Amino acid sequence: MNKCSKCGTTVQEILETGFVGCEKCYDLPEVQNAVLKMYGGKTHKGE
Ligand SMILES: [Zn+2]
Repeated sequence: MNKCSKCGTTVQEILETGFVGCEKCYDLPEVQNAVLKMYGGKTHKGE
């Protein structure tokens, strides 16, 4: 399981709670994908 190397928060915890432990958490690929879906999903809506 992927987790932050700085604060130790796991990807699962971040996805479940929606909160990251620190700025390093955003370096995790799965977190980046989740953030893009949450904040960028509205601009590209597939049909
Ligand atoms: Zn972190």
